[in-house]
Amino acid sequence: MVTVRYGTHTCELKEGESLLDGLLRHGVPVAHACKAGSCGSCLLRSVEGQVPPSAQAGLKDSWKARGYFLACVCHPTGDLIAEPGGSDIRIAATITALDHLTHDVVRVHLACQAPFDFRPGQYLTLFRDDGLARSYSIANLPEEREIELHVRRVPNGRMSGWLFEGARTGAQVQLQGPSGECFYVPGRQDQPILLIATGTGLAPLYGIVRDALRSGHRGPIHLFHGATRPEGLYLAKELAAMSAAHGNMSYTACVLQADAPGPFEIGQIGQVVASRFSELDGWRGFVCGDPSVVRSLKQQLFLAGMAMRDIYTDAFLPSAA
Ligand SMILES: Cc1cc2nc3c(=O)[nH]c(=O)nc-3n(C[C@H](O)[C@H](O)[C@H](O)COP(=O)(O)OP(=O)(O)OC[C@H]3O[C@@H](n4cnc5c(N)ncnc54)[C@H](O)[C@@H]3O)c2cc1C
Repeated sequence: MVTVRYGTHTCELKEGESLLDGLLRHGVPVAHACKAGSCGSCLLRSVEGQVPPSAQAGLKDSWKARGYFLACVCHPTGDLIAEPGGSDIRIAATITALDHLTHDVVRVHLACQAPFDFRPGQYLTLFRDDGLARSYSIANLPEEREIELHVRRVPNGRMSGWLFEGARTGAQVQLQGPSGECFYVPGRQDQPILLIATGTGLAPLYGIVRDALRSGHRGPIHLFHGATRPEGLYLAKELAAMSAAHGNMSYTACVLQADAPGPFEIGQIGQVVASRFSELDGWRGFVCGDPSVVRSLKQQLFLAGMAMRDIYTDAFLPSAA
């Protein structure tokens, strides 16, 4: 039986139980969201005892060296003393603007109080002052002064509901990260690129497209954005203008239902993409947004010939209970 000490709490883990689940079972409050080792909300630091390498997979080397690990995927084999993630991995930020882009998408601007280095398309973990934590993709370029997030309001969502209607400019939050491998890597400048987003999956792709263009990517760049209805197609005018300004970039909006025709395709986004591009050997792909759509599009791109190593995805996994 493994014993874990966390602050003033001591608990024994059940067979096969993660450290996070063990602490939560004992009523210990620990920030968490995806419970799948991807969002980084449950980052803790080991003070004594051995952390399995799998609980540190994907973390920055500097964080690993300081004993940080993800509690949701940590299954220790020996006793462990852990403490909460500290100010050395989070920076303070102020909400400077909250722009409602559609009936359920808000654009959040954040001014960081210390440098926050990232690649466009990566994501961060946003901590509210009560410890609630959620992941959001970064939509801006590093040289733009403020961090930009696109947040969709989820019914009864604690963080998205707060950002949509409770939060005020001037509110203080904390940021941790960045995380994720979904970003443009310069090189292979003539390679065709396909980017597909559903909903606020557009946030990382908005950063990636602009990063590729400013890096001088010469190959064609095709961006598809899907929404349920036309009113969900936020930033459509801006993306159409970007496409008009760059001969190698195209933007296709796509909706499931519409009352009248418009500057969009109607149908499943995967079918719209397949009708345009059926052979993707040698292409690079980025897919972000709803987890089930991301899963099926990843398979679609692979079956159309795209190499798995050239497919970058971020599935917006909901928080687990
Ligand atoms: C890597 C990563 C990147 C992400 N990037 C973004 C982003 O850029 N923009 C963005 O808007 N979101 C993004 N998300 C999702 C985000 O982290 C939150 O899960 C989301 O905002 C809901 O949090 P909440 O606290 O409002 O809802 P919660 O209080 O956690 O959930 C409320 C209820 O809604 C359900 N629920 C939660 N999410 C969904 C969903 N997506 N669909 C249906 N039901 C749901 C829950 O199961 C629960 O019953 C990302 C997630 C991950 C893992």
